[in-house]
Amino acid sequence: MHKHFKQGRAWIELDMQALEHNVAVLSSRLPEGCELMPAVKANAYGHGAALISKALNKLGVQSFCVATAQEGAELRHQGVRGLILVLGYTHPEQFSLLDYYDLTQTVVDFDYAQLLSAYGTPLKVHIGIDTGMHRLGERYDDIERICEMLRAENLCVDGIYTHLCVSDTPDKADRDYTLAQGKAFWSLVAELRSRGFCIPKAHLLGSYGLLNYPELGGNYARVGIALYGVLSDASDKEHCPCDLRPVLSLKSRVSSVRQLYKGERAGYGLCYTAQEERKIAAASIGYADGLPRALSCAVGNVLINGCKAPIVGRICMDQLLVDVTGVTDIQSGDVITIIGASGDESITVYDIASEAHTITNEVLSRLGARLERIVR
Ligand SMILES: *Cc1c(COP(=O)(O)O)cnc(C)c1O
Repeated sequence: MHKHFKQGRAWIELDMQALEHNVAVLSSRLPEGCELMPAVKANAYGHGAALISKALNKLGVQSFCVATAQEGAELRHQGVRGLILVLGYTHPEQFSLLDYYDLTQTVVDFDYAQLLSAYGTPLKVHIGIDTGMHRLGERYDDIERICEMLRAENLCVDGIYTHLCVSDTPDKADRDYTLAQGKAFWSLVAELRSRGFCIPKAHLLGSYGLLNYPELGGNYARVGIALYGVLSDASDKEHCPCDLRPVLSLKSRVSSVRQLYKGERAGYGLCYTAQEERKIAAASIGYADGLPRALSCAVGNVLINGCKAPIVGRICMDQLLVDVTGVTDIQSGDVITIIGASGDESITVYDIASEAHTITNEVLSRLGARLERIVR
C-alpha cells in the first residue's frame, strides 16, 4: 500500500526496536522455566494485534493471550503461530472457533467446564483459579470441584492459572494479599499434582507480577502493558526495575489554519473564546479515534513542529481544534503529534491518562480501528 496514503489523516507509528528492547529486558526478569505470553487482547492494547504478534513471533515468542475467541481467530487468519490462550468467556455457540483455530480456552468456573465438555470434541483449556480477585476462576479451596474439572471428559487441560489483583501497589496489605494469592495457587497446584493429575503449565504473573514478584514463578508471564513500554500509571515508574520504552506514537495532521478576532468563539457549544486575536488549527483526529473527549477545553495539548499547543473547545468525533498562536511556522498538512516526540517536546500516554483521569491501559486500548498502524 502507498506509504503516504497510510499516513494520510491520523495514524499510529510502532517502534519495533522499542518492542524488541522491552521483550529483552522483560525476558531477563523471567523466573526459571518461565516464558513470555504477551497479552495482545484489545488489538494489542490499541497497537495492532496482528503487527505486534507477528513481530513477536519473529522475536521467538510462541505464546499469546487474548480476551476473546474472535481475537484469537483473527490472529490465526493473520498467520500468527503458537499457543493462543483465550482469557475471557466464550459463548458455547462459538466453541467451534476454539476447535477450528486451535485456541486454548480458559475454564472460567466449574459449570463452564461442563459446558466445554459437552461440546463433544476435545478442547484445549487452561483452568482458571480464583485466589482472591473474585472475577473468573474456580475457588482455589474447592479442590474436589477442581479435580472434577480436571477429569472432565473432553477437556485437554494444558495448564492452570490465577490472576493477581493488587500486585501493582507496594503497600504492606497489598503485598501480603499478593503473597497469599501466590501461596494459595502453588499449594493447590502441588496438591493436584500429588494426586496424580498431569498439569503441564501453571502461571500467575502479569506485567506487575513480573516486575514486582518474579519470585512467584510460573511457566508463563502474561505481560501486557509493560511490553508496550509503559506502566498503568506514571507514579509506578519510580519503583519500576526495568527500563521500558514506549512502542506507540499517535499522529494526525493540520487540516486547516485560521485567524480568530478578539471575542470570537469556536467549536461545538462555542466553548472557546478568543480573548485576543488568536490563530487556531483544525486537526484530523477526534474522539472516534479513541482520543478521550475529556482532553477538551485546554485540558490536553498536542505538538506541532516542536511546539506545544493546547486543545481548545470541545473535541469532535473526527476533529479537534488547537490554539496555534504560538506556532510560527504552520500550514495545512503538517504533522500533529498527540503521543510521542516532536523536536525537544514530548507528550506521553501518561500525560493523556492523567488528564483524562484514567490509566494508560484504557487510553491505549481504546485507540480506534480507523487509525492506520505503521511500522517505523
Ligand atoms: C489483561 C490480562 C493480563 C495482562 O495484564 P497487564 O497488566 O497488562 O500485563 C494478564 N492476565 C490476565 C488474566 C489478563 O486479563
